[in-house]
Amino acid sequence: MTFKYNKIDAMCSWCKRIANPHPSFANETIPTKTIRTAKGRKLELCFSCYEVEQDKAKLKNIEFEISLDQKFENMKILGLNGTKNLN
Ligand SMILES: [Zn+2]
Repeated sequence: MTFKYNKIDAMCSWCKRIANPHPSFANETIPTKTIRTAKGRKLELCFSCYEVEQDKAKLKNIEFEISLDQKFENMKILGLNGTKNLN
């Protein structure tokens, strides 16, 4: 489970952040991890979103990759995809 640092086009699929939130690395892009969901969607998540989603999957007692699909589909239904502050 590794995160990519300073990837040029890095953007979190959930919170849409592109800049590293750490003040010491403010001139770098956000560290992200690329994940393939159960339905084959490709998502890129930052540290905080990744951890939040892992906790949610654990609470729901389902696979992480399935939980991501559920969130993606809920966002689509609500028309929230592409907006900020989803949590
Ligand atoms: Zn994020």
